[in-house]
Amino acid sequence: MFCTRCGKTGEELLDTLCRSCFLEELILAEIPEELEITVCTHCQSRLVSGKWYEMELSDEEIIINTLNNHIKFSSYAQNVEIRVETLLERGSIIECIVHVKGTVLDEIVEQDYKLNVKINRTVCPECSKFASGYYEAVIQIRADKRNPDEEEIMTVDSIIAEIIDKISRKNKMAYISERIVLKEGVDYYVGSYKVAKRLSNSIKDNMGGIIKESPRLMGRDKSGGKDIYRIWISVRIPFFKVRDFIKYESVVGQIISIGGKKIMFRDLISGNQISILWRNYDKITPAAKKEDVIETTVTAKTPNSIQILHPVTYEPVDIEINDEIADLEIGSRVPVIQINSSLYILNLFHNI
Ligand SMILES: [Zn+2]
Ligand SMILES: [Zn+2]
Repeated sequence: MFCTRCGKTGEELLDTLCRSCFLEELILAEIPEELEITVCTHCQSRLVSGKWYEMELSDEEIIINTLNNHIKFSSYAQNVEIRVETLLERGSIIECIVHVKGTVLDEIVEQDYKLNVKINRTVCPECSKFASGYYEAVIQIRADKRNPDEEEIMTVDSIIAEIIDKISRKNKMAYISERIVLKEGVDYYVGSYKVAKRLSNSIKDNMGGIIKESPRLMGRDKSGGKDIYRIWISVRIPFFKVRDFIKYESVVGQIISIGGKKIMFRDLISGNQISILWRNYDKITPAAKKEDVIETTVTAKTPNSIQILHPVTYEPVDIEINDEIADLEIGSRVPVIQINSSLYILNLFHNI
């Protein structure tokens, strides 16, 4: 037996070649001469077999990733490593060298291959949706029986900005394509319905309110013949604010907190804290605004009652004593609220 390349005899042959001829003839990797890569110029997403993948990678990393699907290594090679070096960019073509390194027959073999990479720079469907103002849902911020005020709108803006900032890195549909200020509130056009739901739930957790969704038929998909809907999500914040006065099931009280699940208020007579679930919101009626609180003076005190001057008529008014107001001294100034024809002394501690 002899090597078919150099004629050497007396050596174990591999594929009819002696060891040194085999290593010289070896092709470490089969690499295409050309590669085409489609990349989104906005978000660097990459198109791989018809599907877009999000990734923030360098050209070299993108080439290696794509190359991995098109490369075939010699079955004799072990511990193969590849490295791509970009040499020159000519228009949309990048000329590269692919360095391949592997172990063959206990020997380290290195080979270089020329590769031309054609980069198709385009815009991925999600980025083009954003660019064209596409939206799936509209969040309508409204208030019950009034218009939202500037402070409330600022709060909504900052909740939305914070969440969008947090999730837009992972979710390209997390964007606001339009913000429209109306007399009765603000409309936010949101790229994805899922994101709009998350935003409106956070707004409710923070400010309370009632959420209602209504789909609107926008037309028909020209290619698929399917109906196209957009979802309007209305977030109606309550008519009252913290420290306003309300009436609920004949109890008159002052709002302590407004949350996503419930409303807390303090009974003005007993001082007890009571919670109301949002589903019972319609049973709440307005009693007075926090701005209606007036100060007056304690003029007399008995074991059963405290006498104050009516802040408007200056008539003396006797109020039955309770734990909340038992410590008041004659001559002290106290905040009071008039609701219908009754006066209530407000607990000083809770009304700073
Ligand atoms: Zn040989
Ligand atoms: Zn993109």
